[in-house]
Amino acid sequence: MGGQVSQVEGVHVVVVGGGFGGIAAAQHLKSQGLSFTLIDMRDAFHHNVAALRASVQPGFAQRTFIPYAETFADSFVQGRVERVDIERQTVVLQGGREIQYTHLILCTGTDGPFPGKYNAVASYQTAVEAYEDFIKKVQAADSVLVVGGGSTGVEMAAEIKTEYPDKKVVLIHSKVGLADPELLPCVRQQAKELLTQFVSLGQKVSNLSELQLNVTRKNTEVTTDKGETLTTDLIISCTGLRVNSAAYASALSGCMTDNGALRVNQHLQIDGFSNIYAVGDCTNVREPKMAYHAGLHAAIAVNNIINSLSGKELTSYQTGNITMLLAMGRNDGVGQFNGFRLPRFLVTLGKSRDLLLWKSWKEMQQKQP
Ligand SMILES: Cc1cc2nc3c(=O)[nH]c(=O)nc-3n(C[C@H](O)[C@H](O)[C@H](O)COP(=O)(O)OP(=O)(O)OC[C@H]3O[C@@H](n4cnc5c(N)ncnc54)[C@H](O)[C@@H]3O)c2cc1C
Repeated sequence: MGGQVSQVEGVHVVVVGGGFGGIAAAQHLKSQGLSFTLIDMRDAFHHNVAALRASVQPGFAQRTFIPYAETFADSFVQGRVERVDIERQTVVLQGGREIQYTHLILCTGTDGPFPGKYNAVASYQTAVEAYEDFIKKVQAADSVLVVGGGSTGVEMAAEIKTEYPDKKVVLIHSKVGLADPELLPCVRQQAKELLTQFVSLGQKVSNLSELQLNVTRKNTEVTTDKGETLTTDLIISCTGLRVNSAAYASALSGCMTDNGALRVNQHLQIDGFSNIYAVGDCTNVREPKMAYHAGLHAAIAVNNIINSLSGKELTSYQTGNITMLLAMGRNDGVGQFNGFRLPRFLVTLGKSRDLLLWKSWKEMQQKQP
């Protein structure tokens, strides 16, 4: 993204949400010397790509939270954005504090079930404890049922089986194909072959709403829509991500899709607003929702703010061939790079060993504990 732009009088960019998209945007703004505020309701960035390992391996969770303040100092504000006032170019935080912007980047992402996502608003030390407590529940269970065979469910099942090979694990999935539908069929097939002994495809848990998740209860009965009954000690849900639209729902309701995502143009601006951008999982860009893509969006959004300030043409975001790696526990993996299947050992080296934690700690310019 070239060198620094000279500080532009009166320009202040507000970034709402410090997930993968938000920290990338903030880092680009920082390196360009632009005035900005990053707002998140929590005190630390959560590298949720590694959340599933943190759910099974004791002592791992502390590496998955990176405090914002150490990286962004006074440019970070902790708080929940309740609404955006478009007329006054202001975001309003819970408690009434207002922060003015000339440009806004919305990166509020998604929430979903624990342990894939950490939803509570609590200190990162509390979050680390929640993962360590969860490990004890996994350890106390002889059998575990993972509900949902998308990429998260596949990785969850593989993490449990790698760390605790003697436990009985069942992965139940409503569809016949496992993992992300955008993956190459041969990559999905590989994932299926690796999990073949404990996967149950083409059926749904029918009494999920009555069941307690993430609690060890010996011999809990679970029924499926195909009339099967199975018993398990622990149920983990890996389905149902929801877009976090609360921050912008009142101001930008006309720009939202049915699931709460923001409609963006090719420059990642919200339709009809040249100074408001959206990045990452809260956009309607047609591609798998991934940390990797959120980072690419962030670079485009910041670049376009700079281009618009200097009267240059805006850059367009192009979706491309899919790069996606699935960690099948720490010793195996399947995936593809730019649309081509990768050998398993490369995925293991590239992702499964460290789950790309090094990248986030480097981006946050902090030393990994
Ligand atoms: C278990 C799991 C494994 C994954 N593995 C991979 C992988 O291997 N590779 C990959 O590329 N992707 C992976 N993903 C997907 C990836 O995590 C997401 O695509 C990515 O997190 C999206 O980043 P984001 O910045 O858009 O949003 P998020 O990471 O969801 O961050 C949103 C942030 O906004 C904050 N926020 C929301 N609303 C407000 C508000 N009103 N006020 C203040 N703050 C707010 C939240 O606190 C949060 O910090 C995985 C996802 C999961 C769940």
